[in-house]
Amino acid sequence: MKKISLWKQITLSMIAVAVVVAYISENLVRKFETTRLQSTLQEQADLTVSLLSGLMLEAIIVEDIPLIDTALEEAVTRAPKLLQIVVYDEDRQEITRFPANDTSHDELVKTFNPDILYDGEVFGSMEVLWSTREGIQQVQDAVRQGMLVTITTVGAMAVLFLFLINRLATNPLSIIHKNMQATILRDASPSQSLPKIAAEEFNALDGSVNMLEMVLGERDEREVALNRAIEEAKGASRAKSEFLANMSHEIRTPMNGVIGMAELILETDLSSSQHLYAKTIANSGQNLLTIINDILDFSKIEAGKLELDTKPFNLQRCLEEILTLASSNSAKNNVEISLRYDPKLPIGFLGDQDRLRQIITNIVGNAVKFTLQGNIEVDVTGQNGADGTALEISVKDSGVGIPAEKIAGIFNEFEQADGATNRKFEGTGLGLAISSRLIRMMGGKIDVTSVLDQGSTFTISLTLPANNEIVEAPSENMDHIINKRVLIVDDLEVNRTILTERLRSWDIDQQVAASGAEALAMLKEAQLSGKPFDMVIQDYQMPNMDGLELARRIREENHFSALPLVILSSVDDAVNLKKHTGINFADILLKPVSSTALKQVLASAMSATTTTQGQNATATPKKIETKDLSNTTVMIVEDNKTNQLVLKTMLKVTKCSIAIANNGLEGRDNFLEVAPDIIFMDMSMPKMDGLEATREIRRIEKENDLLPTPIIALTANAMKGDRERCLEAGMDSYLSKPINKARLMKALSEYLGPAVPVLKLENTA
Ligand code: ADP
Repeated sequence: MKKISLWKQITLSMIAVAVVVAYISENLVRKFETTRLQSTLQEQADLTVSLLSGLMLEAIIVEDIPLIDTALEEAVTRAPKLLQIVVYDEDRQEITRFPANDTSHDELVKTFNPDILYDGEVFGSMEVLWSTREGIQQVQDAVRQGMLVTITTVGAMAVLFLFLINRLATNPLSIIHKNMQATILRDASPSQSLPKIAAEEFNALDGSVNMLEMVLGERDEREVALNRAIEEAKGASRAKSEFLANMSHEIRTPMNGVIGMAELILETDLSSSQHLYAKTIANSGQNLLTIINDILDFSKIEAGKLELDTKPFNLQRCLEEILTLASSNSAKNNVEISLRYDPKLPIGFLGDQDRLRQIITNIVGNAVKFTLQGNIEVDVTGQNGADGTALEISVKDSGVGIPAEKIAGIFNEFEQADGATNRKFEGTGLGLAISSRLIRMMGGKIDVTSVLDQGSTFTISLTLPANNEIVEAPSENMDHIINKRVLIVDDLEVNRTILTERLRSWDIDQQVAASGAEALAMLKEAQLSGKPFDMVIQDYQMPNMDGLELARRIREENHFSALPLVILSSVDDAVNLKKHTGINFADILLKPVSSTALKQVLASAMSATTTTQGQNATATPKKIETKDLSNTTVMIVEDNKTNQLVLKTMLKVTKCSIAIANNGLEGRDNFLEVAPDIIFMDMSMPKMDGLEATREIRRIEKENDLLPTPIIALTANAMKGDRERCLEAGMDSYLSKPINKARLMKALSEYLGPAVPVLKLENTA
């Protein structure tokens, strides 16, 4: 009944009522008419019997059958509905009947049995059979008539009722419905008015619809105004973000100028106050640049202008570089940073290395900033799957922690867990906002758990496709370190585990000692058993016996005077141990040590012992000899000011002339004028990249009949195929960043003739 119209509902209801009324009235009429027929017949039977019995009493008593038959015939003939009369004596013995045939089988017969009475005495009885055929016909006629009247009346009433319902209710309701619909759909056409006869209730309802229309109209106006305001605000915000994003170059360029120049000034001869001023400018500039970079980055993301740059990169090396930088700050706080990279994971991935570096640098930077003592553990784990490796990079610190109620807010821009705390720690509150947006763009997330005063763990979850193009930086021949025995000494379990894993992956046999005393005992025992250790990698800061004391005690033993000792320290000062203690360490490295650096140190320390052992001598490696290159011009084609500065500083000792080109285009344009003896060429630069610039320079050389100038590529990623691409473009060689001085000098000596700077090993013996 829900979905059919009111009109139909009423019609159906009326039909149902009419059927019920007709049924009831039919039954009533039938009952009434039947009763009436019966009583009429009864009366007639009684009358007939009393007449007959009055007339024939004597004949009945004497049983004068002919007389009785004559009377009966007379009575039956006169009353056509009287079918038969049977007369019985007082003993119920039949005396006679007329007509003589038996009619009792006829269905439409009604039988009466009145007694024959005289003066209250019974003289017999009669059976009178009446035909009811006509009576029943009359009853049916009466019923039919009654039905006709009823149905006509009910039908007429229904029609009238429906008409009234339509005029008084359905019609006004449908008008109100249309008006309501128009109001809701905000149809501007004028609303239909109700007929005059519409009831008070409908008029009230229509009034409410009009009121609703007014209210909605006002709401629409407010909404339009609000939308306009929102659009204006968004426009303003977009304009601001776009302005900032567009200004990034303009803001960064002078900042680089300020910082670069301050650093250059610092390299000149200055009085102590001038040095202090210049240092302050450089530091403040650097701080300001960090803040500006955050704000610019955030604006770029907000303005939707930031695009990810997906390239193959070496995740392990990227992390090592981040931690190396961070550890110089953490060392000031006596905080040790460790990196554990699950050896089962690939090291090369496809992703935006620079943005990922920014995220991890921020999180590790925060860990260092908010940890005054203890340690920071960076742990890289993951699952290799069909669509890449699901990486989890967690940074766990033992710092100040974050109050539970503040955790949710720290990823919002400009939010800091505690304003008061942060004044002590400094910061813009933008780092995590940027990081979480960047990681979201990469399809990952950052989670954090923290316990106040105990520390925090930030976990980056990110799925990246592995990339096999990444090859590890070419390393020295490592064959001679395989199966060597190394003793690892560190009081921290996590450091022992990391070193063990690394050495194992290089097939180095290692054992661990948790203290200096244990290490000494193990060294002696191994010596006695005929399987001595080939090297000791030891921590510097340890309880009871520190690294220096351990080294002294090792050197006191005759057997161990030439045993290579490598110190891994988290304090800067340790680097000077070599100079001040007179103990010949194979090397002293700052933690966290990159696996490449560690491998190189192991290789060179062990090859030194291999060549010098037996002569009881140790090597002091890495003394760089330089030669006067004052007649030489070196051209540096590099867009990054810091890299320019680094190269300039490294080349300073050679006294060569340096020409800087800030991009490939400048390099090409200045080439003929500068006429360099050698070119160091960055690979990725704005305007014209290194490959294109090299091709252009080779073309110019050909056009001018010049001999080819050595061009050495500088690239950030050691990617497979890079070397081929460089050589194809016409370059002569290839140096991967970060450039170290020894390799730079080696390249110079290779291309500018012999006896130019060389790396020399000096024997102290
Ligand atoms: P900031 O520039 O203030 O460091 P971030 O967005 O990087 O901005 O961090 C937001 C806030 O989150 C910080 O101010 C600090 O309160 C809290 N925070 C982030 N990392 C840590 C951490 N490792 N330990 C404690 N608090 C942290």
